[in-house]
Amino acid sequence: MNAFKKREKVVKTNFYIPKQHAVSRDLDQFIRQEPAELPEISELNVVRHFTNLSRKNFSVDTNFYPLGSCTMKYNPKIADNAAMMKEFANVHPCLSNKEMQGSLEIMYKTGKMLSELTGMDGFSLQPAAGAHGEFTGIAMIKKHFKETGQEKNTVLVPDSAHGTNPSSAMLNGYKVKSVATGKDGLVDIEDLKAKLDSTVAAFMLTNPNTLGLFETQILEIASSVHKAGAMLYYDGANLNAIAGIIRPGDMGFDVVHLNLHKTFATPHGGGGPGAGPVLCKNILKPYLPVPLIEYEKKSDTYNTQWGENSKTIGMTRSFFGQFPVILRAYVYLIALGSEGIRNASYRAVLNANYLMKKLEEFYEPVPGGVRCMHEFVISAKKFCDKNVRAFDIAKALIDYGIHPPTIYFPLVVSEAMMIEPTETESMETLDNFVDVMKKIYNKIQDSPEEFQEYPLTTGVSRVDEVKAVKEPNLRA
Ligand SMILES: *Cc1c(COP(=O)(O)O)cnc(C)c1O
Repeated sequence: MNAFKKREKVVKTNFYIPKQHAVSRDLDQFIRQEPAELPEISELNVVRHFTNLSRKNFSVDTNFYPLGSCTMKYNPKIADNAAMMKEFANVHPCLSNKEMQGSLEIMYKTGKMLSELTGMDGFSLQPAAGAHGEFTGIAMIKKHFKETGQEKNTVLVPDSAHGTNPSSAMLNGYKVKSVATGKDGLVDIEDLKAKLDSTVAAFMLTNPNTLGLFETQILEIASSVHKAGAMLYYDGANLNAIAGIIRPGDMGFDVVHLNLHKTFATPHGGGGPGAGPVLCKNILKPYLPVPLIEYEKKSDTYNTQWGENSKTIGMTRSFFGQFPVILRAYVYLIALGSEGIRNASYRAVLNANYLMKKLEEFYEPVPGGVRCMHEFVISAKKFCDKNVRAFDIAKALIDYGIHPPTIYFPLVVSEAMMIEPTETESMETLDNFVDVMKKIYNKIQDSPEEFQEYPLTTGVSRVDEVKAVKEPNLRA
């Protein structure tokens, strides 16, 4: 109990939070009156329990994981090593700036490198994930229009967008209107122009889009959006098609979030932690969440800045963000350097195109006949007459030790399978995937009825997924 009390004191003395951003510091109500009733079991039992659990997991460190849009690539262990160093792991955010110079320097330099990569002027590392970054970016846009006395109530989102885009807009109180995708898989510019009017606050877009295609008319899109008085938002969850090659800022985007846990070396897939830094052009800089981290040349120190005179949206999360994730990104960035980052992007695009080309004969790329960026989408629609769906092919892949691709996304493609090999996979792994996909294709021709049974090699085969989501019983 004393430890809790002491900690509270530290909160009060060292970590300065201006009144308008402070949350209730009355922590007494949360302090336990009795010791927690934790089970007592031997160390060996604990080790066996967790080791066995870990062996049930599918992971990118064990097998190929071509889960489109999720960027399940290898995360170099050097980044984990740095995150585990006690000098970093034991730093508490309530320390004073003076005691935290090293951590502040890493956060500042990471923010600067990400600004350079995206072509943006200001940054906040605070958001805890991609969706949270989107929410923050849209909140900044909203505050901008409020401050400048412009009434806007709508956000435009392509019909192929990640589901978090409309959610982030809705949570900020905006109406969401969908913009159509043309036959070529790109934004239908005429539809966009028809929907752009003075009520539109932003158009949220990712480039390459969720079909893995580069929006070639991006400059025209940007100028139309700006002409209508709206902002252009970049969903940068997957930057590994373009990092080091082109920059959202140069394409005309005003604000962007990145997923450090996809592109910049943090393992993910188990629900976090992640980090979704937000970067923006000067026009949106006054609205960034606080605290900001700044460098003062004169005294060679890194300081936190609470934006007393700015129009900040406030804090969107406690403290500075997910420091260990930011640290991993820092290590990854300096280990690769600008040349390495660029090569990683080239390789991601090359791997995806290699796979798409090899699979083309058996599966149907959408829209087909074009080059993709870091991922591509195939449709399993043509197997429907044999009663085999994308879902069944995904389940069959599990028996070959391969994680299923993303299925049924983007929504604009029926029986979609979205494949993202990432830059870290070898040619042997890609060739093996092609062989497996060919075997599956042949099986569909010969014995399609078997597809209702797969997978056969797992402890549990097919579960009732709807029931599992609606009535999660983790003890059964
Ligand atoms: C993953 C992803 C997101 C959401 O990121 P989270 O960290 O899961 O919140 C948003 N947009 C795209 C395109 C993504 O791939």
